[in-house]
Amino acid sequence: ITHLVWLRNDLRCLDNPALYFASLEANSAQEGVAVIVTPTPIQWAQHNESDAKNGLRAGLIRNLAKTLARLGIPLHILEANTFDQLPDTIAAFCLSNKIEHLWFNRDLPIHEQQRDQALCEQLQQHQINTHIQATDIIVPQDVLSQQGTPFKVFTPFFNRWITILAQQDMTPFPAPNSQAEALPEPNLDLTWEKPFREDLWPADHDTAKQKLWQFCHHKERHYQEGRDYPIEPATSTLSPYLALGALGPRQCLEAIFYTCSQEEKRWQDSIWLKELAWRDFYRQLMGHFPFLCRNQPFKPETNALIWRHNAEEFQAWCEGRTGFPIVDAAMRQLNQTGWMHNRLRMVTASFFSKLMFADWRKGEAYFMSKLIDGEFAANNGGWQWSASTGCDAAPYFRVFNPTRQSQTYDKNGDFIRRFVPELAKLDAKSIHSPKPEQRKQCHYPEPIIDYKPARLAAIAAFDELKRS
Ligand code: FAD
Repeated sequence: ITHLVWLRNDLRCLDNPALYFASLEANSAQEGVAVIVTPTPIQWAQHNESDAKNGLRAGLIRNLAKTLARLGIPLHILEANTFDQLPDTIAAFCLSNKIEHLWFNRDLPIHEQQRDQALCEQLQQHQINTHIQATDIIVPQDVLSQQGTPFKVFTPFFNRWITILAQQDMTPFPAPNSQAEALPEPNLDLTWEKPFREDLWPADHDTAKQKLWQFCHHKERHYQEGRDYPIEPATSTLSPYLALGALGPRQCLEAIFYTCSQEEKRWQDSIWLKELAWRDFYRQLMGHFPFLCRNQPFKPETNALIWRHNAEEFQAWCEGRTGFPIVDAAMRQLNQTGWMHNRLRMVTASFFSKLMFADWRKGEAYFMSKLIDGEFAANNGGWQWSASTGCDAAPYFRVFNPTRQSQTYDKNGDFIRRFVPELAKLDAKSIHSPKPEQRKQCHYPEPIIDYKPARLAAIAAFDELKRS
């Protein structure tokens, strides 16, 4: 082999530019291609990555290794503890295998960029080919205002983004060419593998692709009406596959373009596509403002807020024992499945940062440690939006009323019943905010927060910030 493709958060064969171009070049020069994957369990722990995400990641690596073996491409695991160790590990592999060309798709977060930079310096004798469009639909440096500056507000970002999208060829890259004969099925040793809810999230690329096409064919047209109701299976639930790169952005576009053309709709009007644009929006913020990766709020003045630290409240929130049924149902959904509905991510994050007035960074870290779809940019963006510390965030005086959210988006209480079974017998009216005697009967806790004064206190703290 002379061409080595290094896969990271792009664990797929299809729509993978680095893999595709490496195989093209290798084929035309009659050279070989191999793939490496580099688990860094300690680094992942430092980034708070969840067991669920690592479980799915391991499964996807196994699945990918099988597919590549059928194409005659070997997949090697090079394990290291942290990103710092990777340049030496990869350089040693390149030396002993006489690798001349290294290929990878670029990553945006700051530690990942430092890792790649260090490797490039170490491998100066090698030809390194990097490709950009593997994770974002449009890369951050291409979506700029007329003044050449990054957008800090979503709507103008989206208008520019969609204009560029209409001008680009977004056809997915095909699978790599097969290399000679198929290889035997690999038996990988993934010491860091963790159990996860594989019944909900099959570690299989074909299933993920099918899920995408089924969503686009059957559900996308009802997305706008259904997407805010957690009991409805109205959203795609593709986020874990996008986060690990089992699905590529061009694959999503292909499906949405095709469905819209079948239904004679303008793809530009797809609300689902707009959600994918939010993903790019938060990613470009992370790329342009690296201080976001260093625990800093987008609005520096919010560093002066004095957050409350109450260990018991924090624990109750984590475990789904706040006494607010919708919040508890949501947190239990997260703990049990590794995923939480978007409406509920907003409700629980607003509850945490406004009503508990707890430091949003602690909530962000807890989410990351449980989410199967944990992605730094989207998670940080969502938390800073909810805490009103981010750019284009919720206005600080917008404090979600959990009971009203519950009455609106879980009208009959069915979502609550699913995850808070002790309340299952309550009627649709009382389930959102049970009376004290009902709580006692159901062994369900009293609310840990008094909504009205907590809301006013949060607004007053932000008002004070404005004055000073
Ligand atoms: P769909 O509604 O089907 O949307 C399609 C895809 O678009 C999603 O899979 C996701 O990749 C992207 N997307 C949708 N909404 C958003 C959004 N608001 N911001 C960024 N991308 C979006 N999403 C993550 O992928 N990882 C996270 O770690 C994450 N943390 C969040 C934390 C908070 C506090 C909030 C409010 C939101 C967070 N989100 C995160 C965004 C959103 O909740 C999830 O992407 C969505 O719920 C995933 O479900 P789905 O795949 O069914 O989404």
